[in-house]
Amino acid sequence: MRKYMIAGNWKMNMLRHEASELTRNIISGVADIKHDLDILLAPPYTSLDVVRGLIEGTKIKLSAQDVFWEDRGAYTGEISPTMLLDAGCEWTIIGHSERRGILDETDSIVRKKIDASLNDGLNVIACVGETLEQRENGETIDIVKTQVESAIAGLDIDDTSRFVIAYEPVWAIGTGKNATPEQSEDVHAAIREITGNIFGQDFEQLRIIYGGSVKVDNIKELLEMENIDGALIGGAGLNADSFVKIVKMAGE
Ligand code: PEP
Repeated sequence: MRKYMIAGNWKMNMLRHEASELTRNIISGVADIKHDLDILLAPPYTSLDVVRGLIEGTKIKLSAQDVFWEDRGAYTGEISPTMLLDAGCEWTIIGHSERRGILDETDSIVRKKIDASLNDGLNVIACVGETLEQRENGETIDIVKTQVESAIAGLDIDDTSRFVIAYEPVWAIGTGKNATPEQSEDVHAAIREITGNIFGQDFEQLRIIYGGSVKVDNIKELLEMENIDGALIGGAGLNADSFVKIVKMAGE
């Protein structure tokens, strides 16, 4: 049985006082959830310490939205895995489509970040997904296969709970147009097969979460799919009420 993960990616939103208010409301909203699931908040760097202080002693975990692959040195503007651990992060998102698309992050950069993070003790959510054009050209599985293989081939990982793949079709992110549960499940099942071929039996335990316009009214049907193990949430995670409702549905 794979443990669900619900992660809120706040992107470049939330000043510190807003982050504080949102976090407080989420903490009180999820306080009575008994079910064992991973609840993550990924604020911008500037609010990591605010959120960290508030979630201490709760079931919520802290995530970054990105990371650099070197540990220290002359890399102006970058933040290393060790620094994120020092700031209280247990997780980081890597390879989000906004970084791939807007900042030209390649598969090999994504891989360097994954290696550095896992080696230093930071857990990883690696994002993959096709654009609308790629889907319309029938290339979805090929694109995702290339991204997944590049992210994990030869990866030395003894604990699969430290590594999560987020399938995020680019055309569904922030557009209000989510992939149907069936469309998502097809890709999630393919990802499980790809990871299984690379890693063998243990990768049945790998969590594959879905991201792309997840909302209160579609989370339930997505989570009913066999290979969907949670969600990476953008817009709906900026509102405590909707984020808490989504977490509660996953916890039922
Ligand atoms: C995301 O940023 O990873 C995301 C899925 O955003 P949204 O939920 O807004 O589509």
